[in-house]
Amino acid sequence: MLLSWFGEVFGRESDDHAILADGIKEDPERISRAYRDLLSGGSTDPLTLLKPVKQLAEGESHGLVQVGDIPFVSMCAHHFLPFFGTATVAYHPRSVIIGIGKIPRMVDCLARRFQLQETLTELIVDTLFRGADAEGAWARLSAQHLCMSHRGPTAVTAVTTTSHGLGVLAGRTAP
Ligand SMILES: [Zn+2]
Repeated sequence: MLLSWFGEVFGRESDDHAILADGIKEDPERISRAYRDLLSGGSTDPLTLLKPVKQLAEGESHGLVQVGDIPFVSMCAHHFLPFFGTATVAYHPRSVIIGIGKIPRMVDCLARRFQLQETLTELIVDTLFRGADAEGAWARLSAQHLCMSHRGPTAVTAVTTTSHGLGVLAGRTAP
C-alpha cells in the first residue's frame, strides 16, 4: 500500500521522482522487513523477560537498582514515524533481584510497537513493578520524535522527557 501511494505521489511530480518510484517498486519485502523489525516487540510478553537471579532472605533489604542510558527506538502511534532516545529505569527490590541485562531487553520489547512516549514510560514502570515484585519502580525517557522534528513544527532539536513512578518510587524526581 505504501509503495503504490509513493508511486502515485512521486510519479505525478518530476521525472526524478518517477525514477525513484521505479527504483522502489522492487522492494516491498525489504520495506516490510524493516517495519516488522521496528514493530517486533508485540510478539513477546515483556513480563517473561524479567527473570529473578536472587531471592532475598526474610528481612534482607536491598537498595535502589538503576540502569541508565538504555537506548530505544519506538514508533509514534499517531504519525507512524519513529521516535528514539534513552531510558533510565530503576526499581526498589522487595523479594527478588532480577538480572540487570533483562531491563534493556524489556525496554526494547515494549518500545518496538506503536506507542506514545507517555504510555511507553508507564508500561515500562508497570512491567518492572509487577514483574520484579518490586517495592517501587520508576523510569524517565528522553526522546526525539521524527513527527516533531521532520514535519509539523520541524523542531529538530526538541527532546521530550517523560517520567513515571509506582509504589515507594511514585513521585520520584531524582535524575
Ligand atoms: Zn507523532
